Amino acid sequence: MTVAVQSSIQKIFESQKANQYKIAQSTFKERKEKLLSLKKAIEITFRQEIRDALVADFRKPQAETDLTEIFAVTTEIKHTISHLEEWMGDQYVTTPLAYLGSSSYVKHEPKGVCLIISPWNFPLNLTLGPLVSAIAAGNTAIIKPSEFTPNTTAVIKKIVKSIFLSNEVEVVEGEADVSTELLLLPFNHIFFTGSPQVGKIVMRAAANHLASVTLELGGKSPTVIDDTVNIKTIARRLAWGKFMNSGQICIAPDYVLVHESKKEELLSELKSTLAGFYENDALHNSSYCSIVNKKHAERLSSYLEDALERGADVALGGEVNLSETRVSPTLLTNVSKDSKVMTEEIFGPILPIITYSDKEEVIQYINSGEKPLALYIYSSSNKNIKYFLDNTRAGGTCINNNNMHFLQPYLPFGGDNNSGIGKAHGLWGFKAFSNERSVYRQHIPSVLEKLMPPYTANKNKIIEWIVKLF
Ligand code: NAD
Repeated sequence: MTVAVQSSIQKIFESQKANQYKIAQSTFKERKEKLLSLKKAIEITFRQEIRDALVADFRKPQAETDLTEIFAVTTEIKHTISHLEEWMGDQYVTTPLAYLGSSSYVKHEPKGVCLIISPWNFPLNLTLGPLVSAIAAGNTAIIKPSEFTPNTTAVIKKIVKSIFLSNEVEVVEGEADVSTELLLLPFNHIFFTGSPQVGKIVMRAAANHLASVTLELGGKSPTVIDDTVNIKTIARRLAWGKFMNSGQICIAPDYVLVHESKKEELLSELKSTLAGFYENDALHNSSYCSIVNKKHAERLSSYLEDALERGADVALGGEVNLSETRVSPTLLTNVSKDSKVMTEEIFGPILPIITYSDKEEVIQYINSGEKPLALYIYSSSNKNIKYFLDNTRAGGTCINNNNMHFLQPYLPFGGDNNSGIGKAHGLWGFKAFSNERSVYRQHIPSVLEKLMPPYTANKNKIIEWIVKLF
């Protein structure tokens, strides 16, 4: 990185630091205006540029861009605008008898100057989504998108420039070295979306300034399918959740644990569903996304080879075109649990299908790994659903569906421990970028003032009485 880039980062940071109190004091109306401008830019002004950029970056089908990038952000904006006035208002709390003469409230104040680092797999959604919350909460923000999707980053830069001055929101482009440079600065909050490995680097850097963090990370998200389920009904949901974006989704079903009695039916339904989705030729079908780059296509190809060497069978797909960075929808069976597809996050269109005969095996297997970002349960039995929910941990869960909890704006989104720290979306996103400042206001003298030193016998008696009574 050049000295010029370093000094430009420093300049942007200083200008935002100087401007932060002005932005913090913006009214609901002013924040709403900014959010509406952002919505208009995404939905109308730059819509076609966004679609084109995502085709250029990894041949993302326009329909998927509209749904998972544009709609995901505009719905977040609409939800935020419709609740923001209430979230911004002071939240009065109860005054217990012992504090008679006072009133108290929680003021949601902005964290200040924030850093948003985003990944490449939903490059618009996962960059502008957190920005919506940052703006709503009255912060300034520096954004560092992924270097793997340069065309989308260029449009994001244009969108941001069309609405904000650099002392409020600015995009800084670059690779890990630019992130490293940014992380040296004393940001008030860092919102990072990416891998657990880099999440640890970000948290270490944040510790130097005791900056708060939201870490939206990844990992392996299991899908459990029991013996009570109607496979015909669920196969389409599973196929879409896994193979949309070519499986490059943090919450994609990473692998399936299916009851042995349902395995053949599941395979057969998935095969016919995928044949229908991608017209029997996913590698050449425009509804099917590419892998983001050669490095990731090679990674997936090596996972596949490793699985086959350890005895797995390809039930569907297994085709890789490295020069075009295309990997076909792939179903694997007889997968060894020590193969890479079972030890690493797959983040691509390979779905291992593992069978089980006893519910306890499922729990043991899932709980032997890190806490997942998402865990999906397919069952018609309330008893089984409760069993799987109560005996596992996960950032989020869908029952009889997958991925949808991300889009439900009233739900918090995020992981736990290895899959993340803190939550995003709607109210939770607003809170992530806010400090809940306690404000206690004294109106008339409190009884406690009568109990200040010297501690006479009488005062001690009253204190004794207070301790007992309140
Ligand atoms: P990544 O961690 O490699 O990169 C994410 C961002 O961090 C990029 O902007 C990158 O430039 C930056 N970065 C890379 N190395 C860095 C370093 N050493 N120091 C500081 N910054 C650095 O992740 P990715 O490959 O872009 O995305 C895939 C991962 O993200 C997967 O693990 C996936 O599960 C996860 N993810 C999580 C969510 C979520 O919402 N929880 C969403 C999408 C992706």
